[in-house]
Amino acid sequence: QPNLFMGEPIVIALDGTSASGKSTNAKLVAKALGYVYVDTGAMYRSLAWHCLEKGVALDNEKAIASLCRRWKAELRNDDGHIRLYVDGYFPEKEIRTAKTSAAVPTVAAVPGVRKWMKIKQRDCARFGNLVMEGRDIGSNIFPETDFKYYLNASLDERAKRRAADGVDENLAERDKRDSQRASAPLMIALGARVIDNSAMTAEETSTLIINEMRERLEAAG
Ligand code: C5P
Repeated sequence: QPNLFMGEPIVIALDGTSASGKSTNAKLVAKALGYVYVDTGAMYRSLAWHCLEKGVALDNEKAIASLCRRWKAELRNDDGHIRLYVDGYFPEKEIRTAKTSAAVPTVAAVPGVRKWMKIKQRDCARFGNLVMEGRDIGSNIFPETDFKYYLNASLDERAKRRAADGVDENLAERDKRDSQRASAPLMIALGARVIDNSAMTAEETSTLIINEMRERLEAAG
């Protein structure tokens, strides 16, 4: 495996608010460095979709945690993108609907769910060096990594980006719910480099991260 850091896979934690450019940048960074890309939001989205499919009431934490313990979900590496398959199926379209998006923060706030996700997400390191995007990667999933970034942009700019993707949703509300939950809330991890990319292109943001990573890896030998 290339670029092993003290014998362990390297993890770049990329956290931030909704529509702050995490996915676009995480993919660009992963491609440039030859790392594997993990979208942890997609994992929570898949569980939310699965709950809706199974008719689990979203106000029933116990039922959500219980379904999470029982669902048949396994990680696969599709061309450098790690995906969680549910009963052998990756619900790519279904997890992006407005209905699923609205349900995710509720499912993601359940402690039993976060416990399950932490185990799965840490297990991704078996696929190699990672760029992992989410809300609590630097603070909770891989707190030991030296490579933490936190992306943000103005609410105005983020709403514009979502609208350009044809999605109209209340980002501020989702950020509020993600930041205020008791279990592994969205936060700036200790030691994270904060990048406000309101006035930056994805090209500029990712170049900043890629160049810094290259310098740091070289310096670390
Ligand atoms: O990144 P994305 O917007 O797809 O994430 C969808 C939702 O999943 C977030 O709003 C949050 O509720 C949840 N999530 C989380 N922790 C992560 C990633 C996503 O709670 N690491």
